[in-house]
Amino acid sequence: MGARKPRHSLEEYRSKRRFDRTPEPRGTAKPARGKAPARFCIQKHLATRLHYDLRLEHDGVLLSWAVPKGPSLNPREKRLAMRTEDHPIEYADFEGVIPEGYGTGIVMLWDEGTWRPRDDGAGIDRALEKGKLDFELDGYKLKGSWSLVRTARAAGGERSSDRSWILIKHRDHWSGEVDVTEVAPLSIKTDRDFTEILSERPDIWESHRATRSSGALERVIRRAVEMREARERAVQAKRKTRARS
Ligand code: MN
Repeated sequence: MGARKPRHSLEEYRSKRRFDRTPEPRGTAKPARGKAPARFCIQKHLATRLHYDLRLEHDGVLLSWAVPKGPSLNPREKRLAMRTEDHPIEYADFEGVIPEGYGTGIVMLWDEGTWRPRDDGAGIDRALEKGKLDFELDGYKLKGSWSLVRTARAAGGERSSDRSWILIKHRDHWSGEVDVTEVAPLSIKTDRDFTEILSERPDIWESHRATRSSGALERVIRRAVEMREARERAVQAKRKTRARS
């Protein structure tokens, strides 16, 4: 009998990255941690496009989905979530700058905590195969009951659609109308915004100011500065309104 091929591996993750260039962890294949609560994290990733990477610890890896608009606490808002390659467990602590190559941009640890499937023991892998995973999050920003549901496969079983899921909040104590990405935009780990994370790499920041080039990272940096300025304007506008009343 041949060895069981593991369902989850870091092969695709590693094949996409050059670890002599990126600060991202190479990762080790960790055995499942038994009864310890499984971790989850969401990384806000300013790359070519801003998105939020939802990651759920399972079977020694982080199952991953990229959510372009980020999570919504409103059960009526279904958010597209593209399944991406499994990431190493160590990735759940990563915050930093990816200078060039796959995922070029700035990664912020936006939320973290623990998660569990709602039907304990029924099998996460089976739920993933079926295309519906119901789960609870216990993070700082996100809590309560959620679902990931795979969208219907295109006729003829088109492969690309296998990666397309939606993320939905269930109605509970933690659902509501507030835009959580808007009211809680900063890092849960360091309270930094993208420009502040970037400042840990003064070499990159200085060359950006000097060259004004149009590379992928330079576009990301300009966007990070714009987002910061927009937030500062919003804070000032709020102060003025308060001073008048
Ligand atoms: Mn990403």
